[in-house]
Amino acid sequence: MGGRPHSLVAHEEHDDRHFGAVHTPVYDSSLFTFDSVASMEVAGRTEGSFVYSRGNNPTVRELERKLAELEGGERARCFATGMGAISAAVLSSVKSGDHIVCVDQAYGPARELMGGYLRKFGIETTFVDGSDCFKIEEAFRPQTRLLYLESPTSLFFELQDLRRCADLARSRGVRTIVDNTWSSPCYQNPLAFGIDLVVHSLTKYAGGHSDTMGGVVIGRSELIGELNRHELVLLGSVMLPQAAALILRGLRTLPIRMERHGAGGAAVAAYLESLPYVTVVHFPGLESHPQRKLAESQMSGCGGLLSFEAGGDREKLVRFVDGLRYFRIGFSWGGYESLVSLQEGTRGTRREKAYAIRLHVGLEEPSDLIEDLEQAFRAAGFGE
Ligand SMILES: *Cc1c(COP(=O)(O)O)cnc(C)c1O
Repeated sequence: MGGRPHSLVAHEEHDDRHFGAVHTPVYDSSLFTFDSVASMEVAGRTEGSFVYSRGNNPTVRELERKLAELEGGERARCFATGMGAISAAVLSSVKSGDHIVCVDQAYGPARELMGGYLRKFGIETTFVDGSDCFKIEEAFRPQTRLLYLESPTSLFFELQDLRRCADLARSRGVRTIVDNTWSSPCYQNPLAFGIDLVVHSLTKYAGGHSDTMGGVVIGRSELIGELNRHELVLLGSVMLPQAAALILRGLRTLPIRMERHGAGGAAVAAYLESLPYVTVVHFPGLESHPQRKLAESQMSGCGGLLSFEAGGDREKLVRFVDGLRYFRIGFSWGGYESLVSLQEGTRGTRREKAYAIRLHVGLEEPSDLIEDLEQAFRAAGFGE
């Protein structure tokens, strides 16, 4: 990674000086007042003006500018959660009778939105193994309007070829959305490959301190404008200025935290791979990752979320997870603290079921984390 993200997160353009405040203040106001009927009417007609905080708020705006810059997009809009952003992006891309192609390992609630909830509006979704471009192509129908991607996926870390997917979709008039949460804007910028919309759960790396939630959609002004007028303002899953301020603070250290998560993730992955009872480690930073070349061609670094599979039954895996001290048991990831969860999913070309232990490598000393894993493996009876 070059110096760019480091400098972007540290500096504001300061066209709004906020009385010279160096950090954007929290504009804790639900509405904005005017000195005349005429000026209120002008504001009402001008997109982006501050009238009511469900539409626009200065603190949220500052975060949106920064996220758009980091992703290399024209415009961003923030939402109350990652799912708020995903729902808005998907709903703004389809109408009744349309068909969606979605990666089968995408984030669970996003899959449920497309494969379950949207059925009541007559929208059908086909789920495919996204690591195979031919399977994506085969799934396209004349009614397909959206290709939904998540690269890498967040349990088995399978990638999609973002350039090829964008080309395939564009040649058929199909819109593309990528969930880019795992890489963060520091390590992958899908818009540069021709993807239409990027979504992030800001609850994870961007916030970075497990103390707030948020989501963002980034893309061309025209697409974000549409989504702003409809899904954002009408469904109202908007980000509060307090959350925007916490996430802005998180962003200040995002590039240095990502370097630390990535280095810790690589150290833990290498340790796990050296163990005879660990059957496979899923981490795009490893030489052994089956899509290593593709990872190098579209990502410039790795975060600290990875998973592995180990011999033994479920009970043994549960004993291991229960025995960890630094890794606390919980869903979510991207914060300062290391986390662990035991999850079941399907993977590989045959989509076989498997239990994986997912680790979020936090900001602790990697050698302490490895010692913790070592003692938990021993306590659970691995290597006996
Ligand atoms: C957590 C997560 C989401 C959803 O974000 P929320 O802020 O929890 O709504 C979406 N995608 C991925 C990959 C996630 O990990």
